[in-house]
Amino acid sequence: MKNYYIVDDGKTKLLKFNKLDEFNDKLELAISLKSYNNGFKYEIDKDVRLTKFDRISQSLKIDKEQIILPKQEHTDNIKILDEKDIINNKWNTIKDTDGLITNVRKAFLATTFADCTPLFFYDPVKNVIANIHSGWLGTTKKIGAKAVDMLINKMECNPKNILCFIGPHIRKDHFLVNDDVKEIFETTFKNLCKSYDIIENTELYNERGKQYRIDTTLINKIMLKEKGILEENIYDCDLCTVCNKDIFHSYRVEGKKYEVNTGIIYLK
Ligand SMILES: [Zn+2]
Repeated sequence: MKNYYIVDDGKTKLLKFNKLDEFNDKLELAISLKSYNNGFKYEIDKDVRLTKFDRISQSLKIDKEQIILPKQEHTDNIKILDEKDIINNKWNTIKDTDGLITNVRKAFLATTFADCTPLFFYDPVKNVIANIHSGWLGTTKKIGAKAVDMLINKMECNPKNILCFIGPHIRKDHFLVNDDVKEIFETTFKNLCKSYDIIENTELYNERGKQYRIDTTLINKIMLKEKGILEENIYDCDLCTVCNKDIFHSYRVEGKKYEVNTGIIYLK
C-alpha cells in the first residue's frame, strides 16, 4: 500500500505522507510535483525563483518571502536555525548549506532536488524538524547520519522518537556510475559493502567505461538505523524520479536544462 498521496488543488500538485495526517495540527510536509510549472532552474535570478514559489505558497497558505531555501552545494553542512535566524531571514542568504534543522514554529524549511535524495525528519516529542538534501555526494559525506547526530546532540532528541520521510529520488536501477564514483562509494562504505548489496556490477558500458549501479537508498536507510532510527519509523515513498519523469523533475532525464522539485517542512 502506498504511504503517500497527492493533493491537486488546481495550483499545485503536492505529495504528502499518510503518516503525517495524524500530526496535521502540528506539522506540514509537502513535496512539489512538476505539474503547473512549479519547477525552476536553481541558478535563475532570485526574484524569478521567488515567483516560482507563488503557487506552492498559495497552496500551503504561507508567505513565500518566509520560505527558507539554502544555496545547496552537495556539502554536509547543516544549519540549526533559532528564532533570531528566522526573523532575520533574508530571502536565500544561507550559503553552502545542504540541511536545515529547527524547533521554531512557522520556519518554512525548503530544499530542492532532481534525483538527489530528500530526507525529512520530525521528532513529535521534542517538536523538532529537519530538511536534508542528500545527493550522491552528500550521501558519501553521510549528511543524513550527521543530521541525526545533531538532532540527538544539539536538539536533545531521542532517536527512537524520530520519524524519517524519504522523498522521490533516483533509485538503484537508474543510478548508473563509472569507476570513479564507484570507488568513492567502495572506500567510504567499505564495511557496509561486506554485508549489503550496495554496489552492483552490470554489463553496461558508456563512453567513460564500465558502469555500476549504486543503492544510495539502502545506504541512507542503513546509516539512519545505525544512528538509532527505528526501521518502522522510516517512511520511504518508494518513488524513483527517473521512472516517474512525467511527474517529477529528474536531472538524469532533463540534462543540463533540468529543473528542481521542492520539499518544504514546517511546524505550524
Ligand atoms: Zn527508476
